[in-house]
Amino acid sequence: MKRKVIIIGSGPAGLTAAIYAARANLEPLVFEGVQPGGQLTITTDVENYPGFPDGIMGPDMMDEFRKQAQRFGAECLFKTVDKVDFSERPYKVWADGNDYSAEAIIISTGASARLLGLESESELMGHGVSACATCDGFFFRDKKVLVVGGGDSAMEEATFLTKFASEVVLIHRREEFRASKIMIDRAMANPKISVEYNSTVDDIIGTKDVGVTAVRLEDTQSGEKRDLACDGIFMAIGHIPNTQLFNGSLKLDAAGYIITNPDTTHTNLEGVFACGDVQDHVYRQAVTAAGTGCMAAIDAEHWLKQQHG
Ligand code: NAP
Repeated sequence: MKRKVIIIGSGPAGLTAAIYAARANLEPLVFEGVQPGGQLTITTDVENYPGFPDGIMGPDMMDEFRKQAQRFGAECLFKTVDKVDFSERPYKVWADGNDYSAEAIIISTGASARLLGLESESELMGHGVSACATCDGFFFRDKKVLVVGGGDSAMEEATFLTKFASEVVLIHRREEFRASKIMIDRAMANPKISVEYNSTVDDIIGTKDVGVTAVRLEDTQSGEKRDLACDGIFMAIGHIPNTQLFNGSLKLDAAGYIITNPDTTHTNLEGVFACGDVQDHVYRQAVTAAGTGCMAAIDAEHWLKQQHG
């Protein structure tokens, strides 16, 4: 059955688009993807979403977003879109071997954790290497762990990990952090957290059986290498947009983000809209993602109205 609107992705952008599209009677179909609820489902407290002065747990917040969308008639499928065809209208998407079509598509596939790209990193992923403190921190009770990065994510992950770990060392490639002052202050005030500045990870030492035992660090100024013993290492070095599916069908920027027309969510293709982290490498906040999700639903509604005269 042809839909008016299909939404790909279910973070704050996708589910806000679903709320607005459903309330506009567009009966949206939402493909929730590999991480239903998006990146907030692997964080803990969300302290900066307006309206929650005491904070709210990320997964709880996304459940509320979904309930609100469903209340107005959005249909949420726990399926992942693995192919799209935007070469003709109606546009087609495939999930679990079934195909679906829609007049308008809203893309809100978000972004995923960036990794260092070391062979040892992929080999030991899940065996002492992780990109999600909330998911794996529990396994490092009374252990020493490293966190790579100097942004808000690194501060947040390091602070969170002190709930379990006996010692957390931040590994940053520069002398200055990129993170916001409040996040830096909180991390630096924690007696369990120390910092290795001007250091990059050259290799991760360990085996699948034993886990991580040490990390080889390189001093960015002297080039000197040394091993730092640890039990685990968490990557918190930013994100890459989830646009592999659209490579070739939509205009992407050099970093792979979908390009939207200024002040709108329109992509280079008529009837295809993008919102949230998949098109935003600047703000990347839940509240800004929700804002652009709202914009995408309104843009889609206006565009559909124009099509039907
Ligand atoms: P980010 O701000 O892009 O920071 C990435 C960090 O990783 C930077 O310090 C960067 O170093 C480092 N890095 C990148 N590639 C690296 C590599 N190959 N090797 C070593 N280090 C590398 O990413 P983020 O921390 O994930 O934050 C993303 C956005 O989400 C930001 O807008 C942030 O404010 C927001 N956020 C907010 C909160 C919150 O408010 N609670 C929590 C998490 C994230 P350089 O500094 O040298 O470039």
